[in-house]
Amino acid sequence: MSKRILVTAILSSLAAASPAFAADTELNIYSARHYQTDEALYGEFTKQTGIKINRIEAKEDELLERIRNEGANSPGDVFITVDASRLAHADRQGVFAPVKSAVLEERIPAHLRTSNWFSYSTRARIIVYNPELVKAEQVQTYEQLADPALKGKFCSRSGSHPYNLSLGAAMIEHNGIDKTEAWAKGLVDNFARAPKGGDTDQIKAVAAGECGVAIANSYYLARLMNSDKTADKKVVDSIEAVWPNQQSWGTHVNVSGAGMLKHAPNKGAAVKFLEYLASDQAQAYFANGNNEWPVVSSVKVANPALEKLGEFKADTLPIGKLADSVAEAQRIFDRAGYR
Ligand code: FE
Repeated sequence: MSKRILVTAILSSLAAASPAFAADTELNIYSARHYQTDEALYGEFTKQTGIKINRIEAKEDELLERIRNEGANSPGDVFITVDASRLAHADRQGVFAPVKSAVLEERIPAHLRTSNWFSYSTRARIIVYNPELVKAEQVQTYEQLADPALKGKFCSRSGSHPYNLSLGAAMIEHNGIDKTEAWAKGLVDNFARAPKGGDTDQIKAVAAGECGVAIANSYYLARLMNSDKTADKKVVDSIEAVWPNQQSWGTHVNVSGAGMLKHAPNKGAAVKFLEYLASDQAQAYFANGNNEWPVVSSVKVANPALEKLGEFKADTLPIGKLADSVAEAQRIFDRAGYR
């Protein structure tokens, strides 16, 4: 073998083995998340790397079906979605490829990543209550929401929604299956009305006095707090918010996250993008676009509502562990009639 051919052979085997050698010039992102800061988020990546981003945005299930149907021919490189239970669902279907990255391991706390996907922002599941209907000391924990003293006062979106299933999974991890089932039954017994609407609808119903207490993701409240609309201001003025479980395991947090797809044709670009999402600038765009918190603790976001809500003790349960109990949570909620 001539020297030149040998060098070429070594280089091409390196290129095959190491994504860092691939000269990817494009990146195909399948995203179930869309926010106003996305243009800046993606534009900055292209500016820094010269890699052009093609975005396919659709609902979670549509994207997953598409990835499955495309199989080994899928052009998708990265999948972005919200909620640990949805990321775990995608993972169980085998769509992700493991990513080993010193950058991601250094930037993202261990409990907020798995070997196959990474969290990039966090949101808290908070309690909101109407102080004219419920006393503060009655609603300091998730467990208290099942207390018979709150009969006819609790409002919720569907128990089958991933946000509630993830909370149920956290309850199972901390309190066990039996206590979680009793808790779910207690919630159902306390319903002010059958579950309907989204989290914002629950907050508004609490403000209107139709419910005394509800649970909602923090960004829905932050969105109302940052709103200029008179009606939204009125809602915010009529309610109080609680960081649940500050004396025990901490407030349940959930995430937005992303992973590299198994058949990604541009694996080098995909890893670069996953690492970029953990950079200071991208963290600020990614989190602030939806009033969430960055996962990289040194990154600070100027968000008046989040500043006003202040600091809290968050649950540190590993996000992958939480995902393990989502299916059990669904079975418990079904038995309890929390639909
Ligand atoms: Fe949401």
